[in-house]
Amino acid sequence: MNNPLYDRLIGHRRDSDAVLLHMPQGGIITYADMAARADRIAGLLRDCGVVKGDRLAMQCPKSPEALALYLACLQSGVIFLPLNTAYTPDEIAYFLGNATPKIVVTDPKAEPALLPVAEKVGAILLTLDAAEQGSFAAAVAAAEPVADVCACDTDDLACFLYTSGTTGRSKGAMLTQGNLLSNAEVLTETWRFTADDVLIHALPIFHAHGLFVACNVIMLAGGSMIWLPGFSVEAVLAALPQATTMMGVPTFYTRLLDSPEFNRARAGHMRLFTSGSAPLLAETHAALHARTGHAILERYGMTETGMNTSNPYDGERRGGTVGFPLKGTELRIMGEDGRELPAGQTGMIEVRGPNVFKGYWQMPDKTAEELRADGFFMTGDLGMIDSDGYVTIVGREKDLIITGGYNVYPKEVEQLLDQQPAIKESAVIGVPHADFGEGVVAVLVPEAGAAPDLDAIAAEVARKLANYKRPKAYVLLDEMPRNTMGKVQKNILRADYAELLE
Ligand code: ATP
Ligand code: MG
Repeated sequence: MNNPLYDRLIGHRRDSDAVLLHMPQGGIITYADMAARADRIAGLLRDCGVVKGDRLAMQCPKSPEALALYLACLQSGVIFLPLNTAYTPDEIAYFLGNATPKIVVTDPKAEPALLPVAEKVGAILLTLDAAEQGSFAAAVAAAEPVADVCACDTDDLACFLYTSGTTGRSKGAMLTQGNLLSNAEVLTETWRFTADDVLIHALPIFHAHGLFVACNVIMLAGGSMIWLPGFSVEAVLAALPQATTMMGVPTFYTRLLDSPEFNRARAGHMRLFTSGSAPLLAETHAALHARTGHAILERYGMTETGMNTSNPYDGERRGGTVGFPLKGTELRIMGEDGRELPAGQTGMIEVRGPNVFKGYWQMPDKTAEELRADGFFMTGDLGMIDSDGYVTIVGREKDLIITGGYNVYPKEVEQLLDQQPAIKESAVIGVPHADFGEGVVAVLVPEAGAAPDLDAIAAEVARKLANYKRPKAYVLLDEMPRNTMGKVQKNILRADYAELLE
């Protein structure tokens, strides 16, 4: 039987003793071990009466068994729905109500709070903790393994992945086998992954980056992962000598750079570092290069589309840009009048390709708003393509500031602020202003222990930027509000400072 994604990720390695996971405390899990784990879980799914097209939601700590659960769902044609471990029971209630899964697998700690929520939607609740214990583990151990593979085609739904909710309520993106497979294929090729690769996996697996980019690419290539429960500088430093590659969010790199032990001796042998999910400062790109000799490869993607662009493997990896559209993905910049803009002009980024999702689950209006009839997806990001073809993201459409009728792209102001003495990072937002509609506010995080001279910064900004782009107020914060993927939550900043200019 044919099940393209399962077959390519693990099906054809069901008997392989090649290593899939290196556990940090020692021990390995081979492809054959993982396939056998998935078979046992597939047996449990069958016993529970779960069939093709049903949903299974997982909100568990990261473990090999959680990865096996993803593979068992693919094998069984069951739609897999990973959920952020940070979500509270109230938030989970929304996702379960929206997706109506047949089974919910959760951390035992969350069981008391989630049991009524699961019951309400008629789902069976099972538990699985970081040590792979719980009622799910017990039920799997008692189940008869099933080696059958459910017949699926590339158009069948594989996963619902909820967006990060940075700009509003999370939406369930329906991703097909073909979406996930085509994206994993193009990334494997673009980034030259092979069976010799050993990837440091320190990302969560409830998100596109950690699950679809990292795990799918490694399994497609037949490589292995050093399977860390989460990110810590110490664990990554310890793993580096055995690794060839790492995928990270920008905060991984800034935190590694804080350690003098992250240097050329420790990291020089690596083949590739990639970054995504949030903008990587050009400064971090340069600092890592100076320290280790590596140019971080930044790429750009999102829940609905997987990856869209990547800096080149060979050729210049340009800091501050996200590189070129991936093979098979079309990317265009659109003006407000709905016409495509030429190189060098900033507008709305739209993408089309085999990676673009089917729509939002049970949100036909939202789908119609963002997915054009011709297949282009309106990403909600603003960007431009330079004359060399590199794409730069300048921010989100929702973060665009319109002050007195003028557009202010936050990134332009942030780039200048980030360069100022004693400033670690900045976020520029628009807040209500009686005269101008919105006014520009700069939120600044100082370098540790430093006291920035705000008058000097304002003077420098006045020298460099047009009047309407200049912040009307500066705010100092110890730390930016960030979600688990390291994204700055500008909606929180906007709410916190909503009355600042009134
Ligand atoms: P929601 O859609 O619910 O508001 P979200 O857009 O943050 O949340 P994700 O799909 O996880 O949810 O994130 C995709 C977004 O992350 C992109 O649209 C883009 O704004 C941002 N992003 C991803 N990679 C990069 C990058 N390399 N540089 C800048 N931004 C990036
Ligand atoms: Mg989004």
